[in-house]
Amino acid sequence: MGTDVLTKQNGKFNVSDELRGMLALREDGELFIARAYLFNAHVRGFQARLTQQGFNFRIVETDLNVVQQMYRTVFTSDEAAHTDMQKASIELFSRAVKRRASDIHIRVSKRQNTRIYFRVHNDLEFIEEHSYDYGNKLCSTIYQAMADVSDATFEENARQDARISEREKIPEELDGIRIATTPQVDGFLFVLRLLYNDSAEDLDLRKLGFSNAHIDAIEYMKRRPTGVIIIAGPTGSGKSTTLQRVLGSIISETKGKKHIITVEDPPEYPIPGAVQTPVTNAETEEERSKEYQKAIKAAMRLDPDIIMLSEVRDLPTSKLTIQAAMTGHQVWTTVHSNTGLGTFDRFRDLGVELDLMTDPTVVAGVICQRLVKTLCPHCKKKLIDQKDRYEKKHLERLMEVKLSLENVYVQGDGCDKCANTGVQGRTVVAETIVTDNTLMKHIRNTDRMGAINYVYKDNGNKTMLQHAIEKIDAGLVDPFLAEDVVGPLNAGNIESDHRITSQELAAA
Ligand SMILES: [Zn+2]
Repeated sequence: MGTDVLTKQNGKFNVSDELRGMLALREDGELFIARAYLFNAHVRGFQARLTQQGFNFRIVETDLNVVQQMYRTVFTSDEAAHTDMQKASIELFSRAVKRRASDIHIRVSKRQNTRIYFRVHNDLEFIEEHSYDYGNKLCSTIYQAMADVSDATFEENARQDARISEREKIPEELDGIRIATTPQVDGFLFVLRLLYNDSAEDLDLRKLGFSNAHIDAIEYMKRRPTGVIIIAGPTGSGKSTTLQRVLGSIISETKGKKHIITVEDPPEYPIPGAVQTPVTNAETEEERSKEYQKAIKAAMRLDPDIIMLSEVRDLPTSKLTIQAAMTGHQVWTTVHSNTGLGTFDRFRDLGVELDLMTDPTVVAGVICQRLVKTLCPHCKKKLIDQKDRYEKKHLERLMEVKLSLENVYVQGDGCDKCANTGVQGRTVVAETIVTDNTLMKHIRNTDRMGAINYVYKDNGNKTMLQHAIEKIDAGLVDPFLAEDVVGPLNAGNIESDHRITSQELAAA
């Protein structure tokens, strides 16, 4: 390895290539200067800079080729270290893909070392611990030697974004890896989002967990020529996957006769047949919003039939989304809101005028969704056999929503089929609302109860909670894991004021 050279590329002292041809400063303080350049102005300038910074150095006169050789040696030892780390990172990616992780978190901390986690089915799983130095090298290799940004230097103290998309650097199941970093108190956090390549081959929404009624509603929304169709839910609720499949199905059904353009910040999944436009990286939230708005305006001028906007998040983008629908386009987008009807509150909170958003040709439909874990069929357990492990009040809640404890299964201890987690994948719980004049009238009059009755009673739509209860009743989902995502199962029980008594519970 030898002693490090501080004037190397990206080394401690930033110097020009020209100067690097004349001198080399070693870590031990020896400043090697090629004889021919001893009195060169740049060389003298560099010495002055060192003195000014209080760096102690000794001049060693040498031949030009010795100076050049010194850079070559450090370069190759750096390269070798990078290659080892590249191997380590590719191996880490493959392990994460095998666990079907959505993200890899690398927390690098001087006090707490480097801790690596996988996010699997929405939970962080601790994987392994390394030294601070290891984490530092691993992350700088991933950023500098593997990401698409060719001349970027990884800086611990900055927020940075990048992407890895070169085929030989990522497992074949992935389409790419998105990197986001941020400094933390005594180190930094490095998050890799794994972008899976399960593109449009399988467009069946049933496989994601939607019911037949949901699919009928979505098919109806697809046939509406104009209007915004909003997919609502928090981060990590599977909105992008739903969008990708719906758009994929439109492309395959219309055999490419529709011009679909997307504006994505950032693009998550490939949608073959659509023109996907990324929003350029911007430094601040404000700049980002501006870039996003520019991209939406550009998309509207590019003669689209269908526009997909990755997210409505502020007043300008919500206005543009509505405007795109009003100018005769079908628009698909996502928003953070908790319930189907809550989506209208969200738009109103952002400042969209009620008159605009309560026109069913402007807002055509809402799909609200979450993801809940599905039980491993090999090791799940009947709740009735595990009854003693649960507090009475929890079981009462299940009975209140008319679940028969006989039908309900809970998470088991895990087996080799589920990597000892007791769960296998996740499934959608959802509700769909197709808008019409009557519903919009209730919303315009801020008649919440009227809207609820119309959607769930008159039109027979099921709430997301009811969809979750159906899946619990079918033994697919653990009721308590579902509650982690959708909240208490009895919360939506507005019609019933019947509480289960302890006697009834004992009899069950
Ligand atoms: Zn299992």
